[in-house]
Order: sequence, then C-alpha cells, then structure tokens
Amino acid sequence: MKTITILGATGSIGTSTLDLVEREPDRFEVVALTANSDVAGLSAAARRTGAKFAAIGDAALLGELRAALAGTGTEAGAGEGAVAEAASMGADWTMAAIVGAAGLRPTMRALEGGGTVALANKESLVCAGAVMTQAARRHGATLLPVDSEHNAIFQCYDHDAPERISRVILTASGGPFRTWTTEEMRSVPPERAVQHPNWSMGAKISIDSATLMNKGLELIEAHHLFPIGAERFEVLVHPQSVVHSMVEYVDGSVLAQLGTPDMRTPIAHTLAWPDRMETPCARLDLAKVGRLDFEAPDLGRFPALGLALAALKAGGARPAVLNAANEVAVAAFLGKRLGFLDIAAIVQEVLDDIDPPAPESLDDVFTVDALARAAAARRMERLAA
Ligand code: NAD
Ligand code: MG
Repeated sequence: MKTITILGATGSIGTSTLDLVEREPDRFEVVALTANSDVAGLSAAARRTGAKFAAIGDAALLGELRAALAGTGTEAGAGEGAVAEAASMGADWTMAAIVGAAGLRPTMRALEGGGTVALANKESLVCAGAVMTQAARRHGATLLPVDSEHNAIFQCYDHDAPERISRVILTASGGPFRTWTTEEMRSVPPERAVQHPNWSMGAKISIDSATLMNKGLELIEAHHLFPIGAERFEVLVHPQSVVHSMVEYVDGSVLAQLGTPDMRTPIAHTLAWPDRMETPCARLDLAKVGRLDFEAPDLGRFPALGLALAALKAGGARPAVLNAANEVAVAAFLGKRLGFLDIAAIVQEVLDDIDPPAPESLDDVFTVDALARAAAARRMERLAA
C-alpha cells in the first residue's frame, strides 16, 4: 500500500489525482486531503476515500467542515497550520497541487517529510527553486514533475549523464489567442480567456496560458528540475498539444513524449513511478490527429514570456517578483479590475520598480513576495485613478 496526501484536492489537478487513486483502492491509501474553501468537495472526497485528516485553508470554515464529516473517521482541521499539518503527516507520496505562492509552505513541509512529492505547484520552484531543491536533497525527498512538459522531459532525460543533452524543447499550445492580434486581445473578457483550446485547468493557470506567462514560469521551473544551464532551454509553439516536450542529445537524436492532453497521464506516471499504472485516458490516434504543427513563439504579442525569460537569466529574486506581480494582476483580471494586456504591463512595471536581494530561505521568499504584491497593488491603484 502506498500512502497518499493530496494538497489542493478540490482543484483540477486534485480531482484528477483522486480519480486515479480511487480506481485502485488496494494500491493506495489516503492519509490527508486539503482545500481552500470548498467544504462540500473536500468532505465528499474524504468520505469516499476514508482519509484520516481533512484540512480546509479558510479557518472560519472549521465548524462547517466538522459538521460535514460527522460520523466519519476523518478528523477535521482548518487554517494555514492545518494545511501544513496535512502536508507533514509522512505520506509516501504527496501531490502538491495548491495554486500559487500559497502552495510554497505546504510543499516544503511535504519535502521535509522525505517522501515522494509530485509537484504540480510550479510556483514553488519559480519562487523558491534553490531553497526547495536543496531541501529535497537534505531530506532525501524525491521530487517528480507533474506539469506535462516537465513530466515529458523527465521521461526522456538521461538522469545519469545529463551532459549528453544539448537542448530541451518545451512545447506550448499557444493558448486561446495564438492567432489573435494585440488589438483583438485588448478587450477580451476573463470568461473568454479561461477557455483553453486543449486542456481543462484551473482559472489562474488558464489565464497564464493565454498570456504565455505559463510557459515562462515553466522555463524557470525546468531550469531548477533539470540544471543543465538556462541557455539550453527553448520554447516551441505546438497547437495540438500532442508532443508534450522534447530532449535533444549531442548526437542529434531528439526524444519526445507524446499523448492525448489529459493530466491524468503525467499524474499516473508520478503516482506509479518507477512502475506504471493503467489510466482511462483516451489513447493517442495519430492518424486521426493527422498533422502536428510547430511555430516559434511571438514575444511581441506575448511579452509575458519575454519578461519570464529575462527573470530566469537574471535569477536572484527576479522570478519571485515576476510570480507575485503576475498573481496579483491575474486575480485583478479575473475580477474584471484589469484588462488582459495590463497583466504583462503590471508585471513589467513591478520588475522595473523593485529589485530585492536574492532570497536564501523560504522566509526571504515571502518577504520578496510581499514586496512585489505591494508594488503591484500600488501600480493598480494608479491605473484606477
Ligand atoms: P485549481 O484552481 O483548479 O485548484 C487549486 C487548488 O488549490 C484547490 O484545491 C484550492 O482549494 C487550493 N487552494 C487555492 N488557494 C489556496 C490557499 N490559499 N490555501 C490552500 N489551498 C488553496 O488549480 P489547478 O489547475 O489544479 O492547478 C494547481 C497547480 O497545478 C497550479 O500551480 C498550476 O500551475 C499547476 N498545474 C496545473 C495543471 C492543470 O492542468 N490544471 C497543469 C500543470 C500544472
Ligand atoms: Mg504545463
């Protein structure tokens, strides 16, 4: 039996993970589940899986969660501390699928437990890459990438001799506005921007996919997972989302991982690793797909990608500043307080505005995060004035 904890169990990645775990009750035993505010979703998942502990991020919801779990053997907890406690219960395998910087501390707690951490929360590596990977080494934890590109690279990578690799190519769908002009993007509402052509995902990552900031965050994430030098990473737009990424070797061989766009495939890879498990995912039918297209990304229409590339090259606190400003701007866009093009503009302005020293601990990362959020809020006030 493998013991399982899912951080962010009610989200897109969390529910896909539950779907797989619940298919094999003889193989997986659920220890803890967490959510931010969805008491109904969390308690239903805890009842179905017989989880030992369920934690809700919003401390005010403790009573409601307790009532929803009455008569079950599941203990209820609430607040940031309870989410961290869920991450610290020593599961063999933890899915880190909280969205945004809110996922950093729980992910760190899971790494400190020394088990396997399946990482979907890319913001953990973007904001605190060195701190996280050092902690994983120190505690003997295994970090397995869930993000489809990174999972593809992991499967194609020569882990024993990475010097044989000359290039890593991350594919990008191009998002819903791949063929749109800047003018057409200017007034697009959030309901349209969250409609991704290939993947069904949470709202924040869907907006990041539309601005291509997601690919920028993924470049930074990849650089921490596969430390062969930032200059070896490239982005290639591939609208069908069939080739999930590629690794090129010094002899010119290119290995790719392919599949239908269903996150349950990479999640299953990390869940069963180093073994494999069955999934209900649709099988790839290349005759039906017919053709695979590729094109270079357009940094002119999608400036967020360029900002992330610059932050990756500069290093230090720049990626954490980029991430925090982006989180604030995306939330404002989703709340209809900001236009689509303003997202990258705000991130650019915050990067111009502040340049804090490189963080050396998770506390330092949160200091940078708070500074950048405050700077983004100031910018938005000025925009609104
Ligand atoms: P989502 O919005 O669907 O779910 C987020 C989960 O985090 C929910 O369970 C929510 O309750 C929880 N959460 C949110 N804020 C919280 C807080 N402050 N404290 C505690 N819990 C909180 O998001 P998602 O699409 O499942 O994405 C999760 C992570 O995985 C993100 O970092 C995203 O970039 C990454 N990811 C997602 C996909 C995908 O296909 N959805 C693919 C690759 C990577
Ligand atoms: Mg991805």
